[in-house]
Amino acid sequence: MSRRQPVVGILGGGQLARMLVLAGAPLGVNFVVVDGSPDACAGQVAPLRVADWRDTDSLARFAAEVDVVTFDFENVPAETAEWLSGRVPVYPNPAALTVAQDRVTEKTVFRGIGLETPAFAAVATRAELDAAVVVTGLPAILKTRRLGYDGKGQFRLRAPTDLDAAWAALGPQAEPHGLVLEAFVPFTRELSVLAARGRAGEFRAWPLTRNWHHEGILALSQAPAAADAALAAAAIARARALAERLDYVGVLALELFEHGGRLLGNEMAPRVHNSGHWTLEGAVTSQFENHIRAVLGWPLGDTALCANSLMFNWIGSLPEPAAAALALPGVHWHDYGKAPRPGRKVGHATVCARDDATLAARAGDMARVLARAEQLAPARAVLPEVWAPCPERAPAAAR
Ligand code: AMP
Repeated sequence: MSRRQPVVGILGGGQLARMLVLAGAPLGVNFVVVDGSPDACAGQVAPLRVADWRDTDSLARFAAEVDVVTFDFENVPAETAEWLSGRVPVYPNPAALTVAQDRVTEKTVFRGIGLETPAFAAVATRAELDAAVVVTGLPAILKTRRLGYDGKGQFRLRAPTDLDAAWAALGPQAEPHGLVLEAFVPFTRELSVLAARGRAGEFRAWPLTRNWHHEGILALSQAPAAADAALAAAAIARARALAERLDYVGVLALELFEHGGRLLGNEMAPRVHNSGHWTLEGAVTSQFENHIRAVLGWPLGDTALCANSLMFNWIGSLPEPAAAALALPGVHWHDYGKAPRPGRKVGHATVCARDDATLAARAGDMARVLARAEQLAPARAVLPEVWAPCPERAPAAAR
């Protein structure tokens, strides 16, 4: 490491940038964050430059301030990333970003590395929607090819009579980037691989994570996902092949469906990812620290598990009473410093324990103290068995 403290520039100033900054600080790394909003929550922990992605004067000043540029947000225009890469190293490279921005390109790359995907077909017109259904069958999901996140820009089709409604909902968004129709996968589980690749090709993956979504938004993540060794190895091998195919530098997330013992690629995130938040307390090195190490060309840290973990997303607003949850053993609380707004990710909690039985008991204790909090509803909807006897169960002190 050089004596001068390196400066990492981050495009996007949300909670991911905030957690990158917090993870980089102990390593002596400084940051500058760019976002279009003066309220971007990473601005509470690092200098924030408010700029439009196409404002090249501001971008030039930003490029002059930093040693390397990375992202907390994959929908930064590819042209912005390209423009910056002519002035300062940009990781992951803009080409990888471009692949991840388009669901059709992304799935085509998945197939190219031998990762199966749900049947899919690009759709630009109403007639192409009819043709696409022949490829995917029903049920299926119509999605925007670009700019969709947290289940936004998606429409589920169950019967041929849904085609008109699907087109009415998303047809107006078919311009300019198009739509994609995907076969609906009745998956057994959703899994993600979080992995880091360094500038010289060093590769490390965290233990497989299991995810539960509610209404398209991640509600819960559990690590390690109980998976047989062959399945976990296959998932990690696909992530490695993907990272190598894209000459990727940094942390990426590969989201998978497990169906009938097979793994199908859903999508990739060319950045640190919500399903890896548990690594802050549950792994030797977090996804945030390893991303910073990777983009600076430093050795990657150990990705081994140090605690079984269950991560709860707080959507809309933070649950109360936070202090009661904080008092519980194994509960780690994260408040992103964002104003409450329906559907917005404003924080998370990770519950950690040495074994799954203790983890379930601790999660039940947290559910009990937050019993009145509506923010637990998505987690309860997807995994009721963890706190089934809750809130009537015996208090923690009685165990
Ligand atoms: P996405 O933004 O594509 O990751 O979609 C959000 C969530 O919707 C996923 O994590 C799944 O829970 C669900 N989903 C998306 N695509 C499919 C699919 N083809 N089959 C089944 N569920 C899906």
